[in-house]
Amino acid sequence: MDDKGTLIVISGFSGAGKGTIVKKLINTYDRYALSISMTTRAPREGERDGVEYFFSTKEQFEEKIKEGGFIEHACYCGNYYGTPRAYVEKQLAEGKDVILEIEIQGALQVKERFPESLLLFVTPPTAVELENRLRGRKTETEEQIAGRLSRAYEESEGMDNYDYIIINDNLDKCVEDVHSIALAAKCEPIRKKDFIKDIRNGLKAYSK
Ligand code: 5GP
Repeated sequence: MDDKGTLIVISGFSGAGKGTIVKKLINTYDRYALSISMTTRAPREGERDGVEYFFSTKEQFEEKIKEGGFIEHACYCGNYYGTPRAYVEKQLAEGKDVILEIEIQGALQVKERFPESLLLFVTPPTAVELENRLRGRKTETEEQIAGRLSRAYEESEGMDNYDYIIINDNLDKCVEDVHSIALAAKCEPIRKKDFIKDIRNGLKAYSK
C-alpha cells in the first residue's frame, strides 16, 4: 500500500551526534516514530529501561532472536543490540516513518530484508572532531574511546553502502536534510506502486 511508512535507518560513528539529530527530528515533526532497541549493554547514568533502550540479559536477548522477534540484530563492542519487530511493523502499517538508530551490520541486514528502506550515515566533518566529541561527552573510559575510534575506522569502509551521507557540522541543517530526504522518498516510484497502477488503468480507456 502506498501510504505505508518508510523505514529510515540512521547510522554513524559513535559520537557523530546521530542521537541528537534523531531527538530533534522526532520532537519537531510528528510523522516519525522512533524504534527503541533492545541491548545487553549496561545502562549509562541517566538511561531508563524502555526509554533509551530495553535493557536485557544475554539469555533474554538470545531467546528473542530464536523467536524471530528482531528485524535485525548485531554484536557491537561486545554487546548485543537489536530492533524489536512488533513496534516497527505496527508503526509502518499506520503510515509512520520509523527511525532506526543502529550500527552498520544491522543497517545492511535491514537493506537486504527491506530494500525500499533509506540508509543514512551521519559523520562529523573530520576524524579529529570525532575524537573530541567522544572525549567531550565523558561517558566512556579511555579504553572504550579507543575501541570506538578503532571501530569507526572499520565502519568508514562501509559508508559507500548507504544511500545518503549526512555531515554533521550544524544540527538544524542536519535535521532539515534528513526530513527533506524522508519527504523526497515519498515520491519514489517504489512507494507509488498503487498510484502508478491506478493511473495506468485509468489511462487505458484513452489508449488507441
Ligand atoms: P550505544 O552503546 O552508544 O548506545 O550504541 C552503540 C551502537 O549500537 C550505536 O552505533 C547504535 O546506533 C547501535 N545500536 C543501537 N541500537 C541498535 C540496534 O537495535 N541494532 C543495531 N544493529 N545497532 C544498534
